[in-house]
Amino acid sequence: MKVRIIRDECVSCGTCVDTCPDFFELGEEDTLSQVVERYRNDGKRDEGSVPPDLEEAVREAADLCPVQVILLE
Ligand code: SF4
Repeated sequence: MKVRIIRDECVSCGTCVDTCPDFFELGEEDTLSQVVERYRNDGKRDEGSVPPDLEEAVREAADLCPVQVILLE
């Protein structure tokens, strides 16, 4: 499963980080949600590949995002 975060529209609520801290973090400088470094695709902060053991938590985070900017593919 792949994830893309529309960072421009993130409101920095932290829900995704609280729900799945192994996959999401808030950017140190812009406080927008991003994929943790180890799971990024080509080093992109807004795109990542989800390992099987985190899929359920990432789905939950996407569901809970108040502005629905976590896209699953
Ligand atoms: S849950 Fe959505 S709005 Fe909140 S920090 Fe994560 S991506 Fe941003």
